[in-house]
Amino acid sequence: MIYLDNNSTTRLAPEVWTAMSEAWSNGLVNPASQHRGGQRARRALEDAREAILRHLGARTAGMRPDRLIFTSGGTEANNLALTGLVQPNQQVLISAIEHPSIFATARHLSSMNIDVRQIPVDHDGVVCLDRLGELLRERPTCLVAVMAANNETGVIQPVSDVARLAHDAGALVHCDAVQWVNKLPTLFSTWDVDCLSLSCHKFHGPVGIGALCLKHGVTPRPLFFGGFQEDGLRPGTVALPLVLGFAAAVRLFEPGIADSLQSLRDHLELSLAQRLPIVVNGSAALRLPHTSNVAFLGRDRQALLLAADRHDLCLSTGSACSSGSSERSPVLLAMGLPANVLDSSLRLSIARDTTLAEVDQAIDILTAICSS
Ligand code: PLP
Repeated sequence: MIYLDNNSTTRLAPEVWTAMSEAWSNGLVNPASQHRGGQRARRALEDAREAILRHLGARTAGMRPDRLIFTSGGTEANNLALTGLVQPNQQVLISAIEHPSIFATARHLSSMNIDVRQIPVDHDGVVCLDRLGELLRERPTCLVAVMAANNETGVIQPVSDVARLAHDAGALVHCDAVQWVNKLPTLFSTWDVDCLSLSCHKFHGPVGIGALCLKHGVTPRPLFFGGFQEDGLRPGTVALPLVLGFAAAVRLFEPGIADSLQSLRDHLELSLAQRLPIVVNGSAALRLPHTSNVAFLGRDRQALLLAADRHDLCLSTGSACSSGSSERSPVLLAMGLPANVLDSSLRLSIARDTTLAEVDQAIDILTAICSS
């Protein structure tokens, strides 16, 4: 199988498996227990938390340390941020290209009479800062949600500029960094966002764990009730083996990873462009190094996906959370792309374990399908 669907999920790294299986077989106990076993577990939990916070560029020392709240994944972290930080009689602004977990939460907020408005993106898929400024001036705003980089196109968003504009208007900023983390350095403090979501299975860690990183002093209302764990913001016994897998997964990050991913991705795009009539969506903007959104002009994306699957080549038509539907991608629609591009676009996403040979095979398969 040639797996070019790494934005949906990635394969578990052996180092992560080892860290988790050691945790399971060493009989780690509940970190909330008072006995020495519990204390040991708590130390392991807090060490992992600190390592992840440091990896995210968050503050771990001093008078105003940031916090990391473990969740079940990116979807829960996004839900916690949005529902937990809304204020009555103030609007919420979300970019027009957010993940379905933000859109669906926004729809839920709208049903509770919260005014949610969208910030448009330009033709390259970058959020329009001028329009954000106007929207902020129109009404009091409690929260602005703009992702670090889009999951379908990889297009990187001007997060620091968004944060500056939002803070000047008295609003908090949430950043969904699910596709960003471990591909490029995450700069929580430098970006100056108030909360940031991440998901471990997107970077070779276990599925079922993610986190919300919170700036010092930012406290969302919890989604769940029942205990004091995670500062009461996410009660319930923490899944310590998953947390230790999480810490092992962030340790996989190497500064050179972006360059090697990008050269493989560029090879994929250039080779396809030499053989087939394609358009790479969002290619004029800065993009994540592992994501490519390609319109195979004249081809139907759904038929192409199925044909590729018959050759054991795994691709996707968009977010895994909206797949199964044959609707056009809301992200590409928001970019104002023409119908022939919308109907022929597929996402190809690589990872640190994708080989050049696999990419070359994928190029051959796609060329053969599109030429038949
Ligand atoms: N946000 C983005 C940008 C994503 O790509 C995804 C998953 O595809 C999520 C959030 C949801 O993460 P999870 O699968 O951990 O719930």
